[in-house]
Amino acid sequence: MYYVGAHVSASGGVENAPLNAAAIGANAFALFTKNQRRWDAKPLDQKSIARFRQNCEQHGFTPDQVLPHDSYLINLGHPEQDALAKSRAAFLDEMQRCEQLGLKYLNFHPGSHLRKISESECLSRIAESINRALEQTRGVTAVIENTAGQGSNLGYRFEQLAEIIAQVEDKSRVGVCLDTCHTFAAGYDLRTREACEATFAEFDRVVGFNYLCGMHLNDSKGGLESRLDRHHSLGQGEIGWEVFRYIMQDARFEAIPLVLETIDPDLWAEEIQQLRNFTAQALAG
Ligand SMILES: [Zn+2]
Ligand SMILES: [Zn+2]
Repeated sequence: MYYVGAHVSASGGVENAPLNAAAIGANAFALFTKNQRRWDAKPLDQKSIARFRQNCEQHGFTPDQVLPHDSYLINLGHPEQDALAKSRAAFLDEMQRCEQLGLKYLNFHPGSHLRKISESECLSRIAESINRALEQTRGVTAVIENTAGQGSNLGYRFEQLAEIIAQVEDKSRVGVCLDTCHTFAAGYDLRTREACEATFAEFDRVVGFNYLCGMHLNDSKGGLESRLDRHHSLGQGEIGWEVFRYIMQDARFEAIPLVLETIDPDLWAEEIQQLRNFTAQALAG
């Protein structure tokens, strides 16, 4: 089965996220388990945790269908020791929140060298940050998201994702989330069926589909290799519909959360329906 949804609001408490997802007809969702623009956060309270689990159960969401996202402030490859330590502590807190909620994934952007250390040094720091967090938690997989390569952000080449994974000790708890907008903006074409085939074959060769734990489904305002992280609604950007049809008709993308981060939440219910229609069309032959 395909798990399709959106990054929904958790405002008022994490327990609201599954309700917001159910309201748009989703059977997957992403959420922030704390305010994504602040360092400090009070711990999740027991009531909130219990209600989150209850609401997930009531609406049929299992941990396989939920892809929490960490704070944008965290940089696991930070060139400076103090800032790196702060990021690692915040990341551990995010992993522990997922543990408390009974979730199995934590999705994050790998990190940025800020032009102060080499790419390879930065990738090693990121891997070391993941190793430390995995050692101190149980049951949560660290899911590295590919980036558009904006600024000095790493993770825009599949080789960089592979390099991080190679240095993670527990390979059973590291994975990848591919964002279609980021992939395209980083220079991998997705505009035609043939382009999708080539791009995903390259991903399989360099990283491996066995590491794919989720996808972010976004069209892109920026062009191919623009290195811009600018999402658009499905079919309205530079990529167009073909890649989304491709994904919804290829079993390699089944049973992982497929999450919209498109710019108009009013379209999410329609976008989810359109994605499901692609699968239905394939089944109807
Ligand atoms: Zn994304
Ligand atoms: Zn993005």
